[in-house]
Amino acid sequence: MQDIINNLSKQAKDKHNENKKFFAKLKKKPPKNLDYIMQELHEDAFEKTDCLECANCCKTTGPLFTDKDIERIAKSFRLKPQQFIDQYLRIDEENDYVLQSVPCTFLGADNYCSIYDVRPKACREFPHTDRKKFQQISNLTLKNVSICPAAFNIVEAMKKRIG
Ligand code: SF4
Ligand code: SF4
Repeated sequence: MQDIINNLSKQAKDKHNENKKFFAKLKKKPPKNLDYIMQELHEDAFEKTDCLECANCCKTTGPLFTDKDIERIAKSFRLKPQQFIDQYLRIDEENDYVLQSVPCTFLGADNYCSIYDVRPKACREFPHTDRKKFQQISNLTLKNVSICPAAFNIVEAMKKRIG
């Protein structure tokens, strides 16, 4: 898995223009059953991917924390939301709460998430490849394919399936 992760950034760079063109076309004319196709490709890719061997998302990019995330996670630590913010978060350029540093503080050496049950919504949904109207998040996906091997494989499978 580590070799795959090490090569991912270069592989994603090589595919960037092709992916950009593909998503531009997809946005103009998405297939009627795109939600169904994405569900299938997502499930197929994640059956073959062990996130515990990877954790590259937790190591390289942090999630955004919504107010609800902060409340829920702070409660699990028996902290007030503001105490949790002061201890772990900062505000980024887009005015969102993000981690003060990556790899994520809550990631263990064994790649387990120590706040798994209460983790941010963005962590639960990453890499968003099973979301509805997938064509609407093409810019985000163009970035995610360089972080997430499963997202990379899903986009490759999409190109084969949809053309
Ligand atoms: S909160 Fe958990 S799932 Fe989210 S980035 Fe941190 S370790 Fe990963
Ligand atoms: S979601 Fe993607 S980047 Fe994150 S651990 Fe799983 S395969 Fe790796």
